[in-house]
Amino acid sequence: MDIHLKRSLRKSIKRGHPWVYKDAIELKKPLKSKTEFVLLKDNKGLVSLGIYDSTSPIAFRALDFNPLKTNELEQELMRAFKKRSSLKDTKTDGYRLINGEGDGFSGLICDVYNQVAVLQFDGEGMEDFWRKTEVSKLLLKNFENLKTVLIKPRGGVGDLETVCGEELKDFDVLFCESGLKFKANLLKGQKTGFFFDQRDNRNYIKSFAKDKSLLNAFSYTGGFSVYAGAAEANKVFSLDLSPGAVSDAKDNWLLNDLDPEKHETLCEDAFDFFEKSDSKFDSVIVDPPSMSSSQKTKSKAVQKYIDLFSKASKRVNKQGDLVLSSCSSQITFEDFNDIITEALSSAQKKGKVLRVSGQGLDHPYPHFCPELRYLKFVHIVLD
Ligand code: SAH
Repeated sequence: MDIHLKRSLRKSIKRGHPWVYKDAIELKKPLKSKTEFVLLKDNKGLVSLGIYDSTSPIAFRALDFNPLKTNELEQELMRAFKKRSSLKDTKTDGYRLINGEGDGFSGLICDVYNQVAVLQFDGEGMEDFWRKTEVSKLLLKNFENLKTVLIKPRGGVGDLETVCGEELKDFDVLFCESGLKFKANLLKGQKTGFFFDQRDNRNYIKSFAKDKSLLNAFSYTGGFSVYAGAAEANKVFSLDLSPGAVSDAKDNWLLNDLDPEKHETLCEDAFDFFEKSDSKFDSVIVDPPSMSSSQKTKSKAVQKYIDLFSKASKRVNKQGDLVLSSCSSQITFEDFNDIITEALSSAQKKGKVLRVSGQGLDHPYPHFCPELRYLKFVHIVLD
């Protein structure tokens, strides 16, 4: 079916922006189903192949292939795998295999936890469109190690659905990241269970954690903590509001045969902790959850970040490390730099930037869609 572009968005789509909102689209005929594979045209002719989604404000999502053809679907899947080929030599079997638009599969993600693949869709339209049984069969066919393909509802509410392969008896799965062992609970865990996007940054922490005392604030299940432990940090504190997360952080520490004396968990509100505590650490990592989901809430979130980072900077020993991260897609790298400037200024601190980075290679994004470059990570050594 053909759909028509009402605005002059040809250039933007040709440059690789994958979305068109509803008000820029005209339908000449009504759709037969919720979603359809369509040709987007304007008065000059074909602009792009893609998905029309009647259930979402993002009415059109560009595609570079025809996913209704199994061979093209398989080819695209293998292209995604090829982008991750450098993970092969890193003892990593937990990673993101499909990152939506960044892999040409708009609205679909697939995270792999050793023998289990977890699919997640960006809304009901995407779940309707992507042929989940076909995708799952291709995953099992092409990845020998995989035994099960599940769907996790977005937002984490609801049961996991097994699409293909063996039913899991237990939703705790074990996997490796950079040679370290982790468990994740696919049912109760955040996102699909683990934040694979920080893998490179965790490895980076490992490069300077030796002999240090380190506070991992918003630790979740202890990703950064375990890497710091493996680097022989002197003492690591994992702080998170969720009792389940800190309990898993403890388990992940022990899974790696690290000395239990060198790890302490703190189950409390990080904002309160930074407000009240007068403890100091050689390194403080602050990786809060997204604080802004829309432009409307952005300025409030900016203020919250400034306040949090400013208080955290006061908990760092002289010449210690302040490591700040944000996964809010509304906050750009430029915004983040301004936030850090304000935070340090209000704490009357100065520092030198040693590293600015973002999401790992298994979280690619179209270069003309900076909205999907969401993860920011900055390491500053304070003066
Ligand atoms: N750094 C983690 C990911 C952090 S996700 C990793 O590498 O895996 C954000 C975490 O912040 C979640 O675990 C959530 O439980 C926690 N959280 C949310 N609000 C909090 C608060 N006010 N105080 C402490 N932790 C909080």
